[in-house]
Amino acid sequence: MNNRPLILRGNINIKNMDGYIIGKIIKNKNIVDKEEYIQLLDDKNINLFEEGYKGYIFEHEPQKINLKEINYCSNIKDYQTLLDYEVIEIINKKVIRVLYRDDSEDNVIVVTNQCNSNCIMCPDSDAVRNTKENPDIKKLLEQVRCIPNDTKHITITGGEPGLLRENLIKLLEECKKYLPNTEFLLLSNGRIFSNTDFTNKVKESLPQYIRIAIPIYADNENLHDKITRAKGSFKQTIVGIKKLIERDVDIEIRIVVLKKNYQHLEDIANFIVKEIPQAKMVNIMALEMTGNAYKNREQVWINFDEVKEYLYRACITLIESGMITNLYNFPLCNLDERLYSLAHKSITDYKIRYKDQCEECLAKGSCGGFFNSTINFKDIEVKPIK
Ligand code: SF4
Repeated sequence: MNNRPLILRGNINIKNMDGYIIGKIIKNKNIVDKEEYIQLLDDKNINLFEEGYKGYIFEHEPQKINLKEINYCSNIKDYQTLLDYEVIEIINKKVIRVLYRDDSEDNVIVVTNQCNSNCIMCPDSDAVRNTKENPDIKKLLEQVRCIPNDTKHITITGGEPGLLRENLIKLLEECKKYLPNTEFLLLSNGRIFSNTDFTNKVKESLPQYIRIAIPIYADNENLHDKITRAKGSFKQTIVGIKKLIERDVDIEIRIVVLKKNYQHLEDIANFIVKEIPQAKMVNIMALEMTGNAYKNREQVWINFDEVKEYLYRACITLIESGMITNLYNFPLCNLDERLYSLAHKSITDYKIRYKDQCEECLAKGSCGGFFNSTINFKDIEVKPIK
């Protein structure tokens, strides 16, 4: 189900000292191992109430249940949108936050808002990245323990996850232990991996199926560092990537296309082919125009049409050298048609938008559309495929 709320509000009563609980939903039924679960009961199933759950969500406050000793919520708007095995955090007197969607392949663990770079096209704003309120490690570990162990995919992201240092290692170890069959994608700017000791520790803690995705915005430090607005970041990132590769860690290189680098895409492709041929894949991505990207839109936004020819040449360079190459966030009709097979429906479901004219396009089913943040940019045109 798309567009289900991630924050729910209502009457929330958590009795423990921490003022929150994290658990997974079990809806209108009972299970044996209750400790990690939050039982959700609508009015007509209230007779299924049993003691022993971590918490309860009632449709309305029940009259015949002793509420003094239990963690419970009632009269929660949209409570019925929660599904079995979804992981939630209930914060006393405040909100219910949905941390894991059981029907989504797009689940993320956000480990920090902070970052050691300050990219000109970051989809987060300065305000978000400068917030002091990061998720605490105790909660992150609880979240991992609650995620069902048949989950196919989880993305670990920030900010820059590497800033967690020892806590990132703890988190990765927990993922390895509790989710041994899950595929992880760790998004990082890669700078932290230029530190050999840290990279050695990370290597030891990695889950079996994990890829680390690291962006390169240019083939030289001058342009890359201008985009990251962090002096020395290019050198650190390249050293970090090479250290990970030396330790047999799967690496994905990401290239984000913006006004400052689109004319250099082929140079970046050549650089990757020459310097990082061991990368498992290269994903070239169009911008999400939120946060810093929107604030700096005059410097970062470039129309898809202008990118087309440069993008084609970069893709051909990569493909001809045997690199797996993918295109993310590009609407099909704005690509050279020889690249259609590289394009993926990559935009998170609730952010996808289409133009009215897309209704008459035969390719709509295979097209990933636009971000909600770019759909209204004036220079975007669609050319329905017929
Ligand atoms: S017309 Fe719309 S649906 Fe068709 S390819 Fe373009 S963006 Fe996608």
